[in-house]
Amino acid sequence: MTRPVQFRPHHFLCALGFQGKGYSGSFTQNMAAIVAQLRGPDGGDTVIKVTAQADSICTPCPHRRGQSCVKVAQIAALDDRHAQALGLHAGQRLTWSDAKSRIRTHVPPGSLSDLCAGCQWLEFGLCEAALSELHRG
Ligand code: SF4
Repeated sequence: MTRPVQFRPHHFLCALGFQGKGYSGSFTQNMAAIVAQLRGPDGGDTVIKVTAQADSICTPCPHRRGQSCVKVAQIAALDDRHAQALGLHAGQRLTWSDAKSRIRTHVPPGSLSDLCAGCQWLEFGLCEAALSELHRG
């Protein structure tokens, strides 16, 4: 049996907005494989377990330190804001379809400058573009 995909709270939005950019080649390759599964024909049924630690996306990240991250303070703040916005808690399991529905309900277009404040990828606008696309259906 394959292990379920694990996401820390802010990585649900990262997975939505991912367009092939990342911290290293192996990071990007791993995240691309996860996102391809989510965006595949049955991707909405993918079960994701919420974790408060390093997750499936963090695994090959050059910033990961064991179950933590060199950017721990910034990442913890991001995770707290996203967990609150999407109603997530560690140990919870939800499908990618449910996650997208929560994003649609609780994260309006234009809100990422607050929700994702401090994230280096924000300025590229890819996540806001993906969020708008999700709201357009
Ligand atoms: S920067 Fe930290 S939270 Fe982000 S993917 Fe890397 S290890 Fe995970």
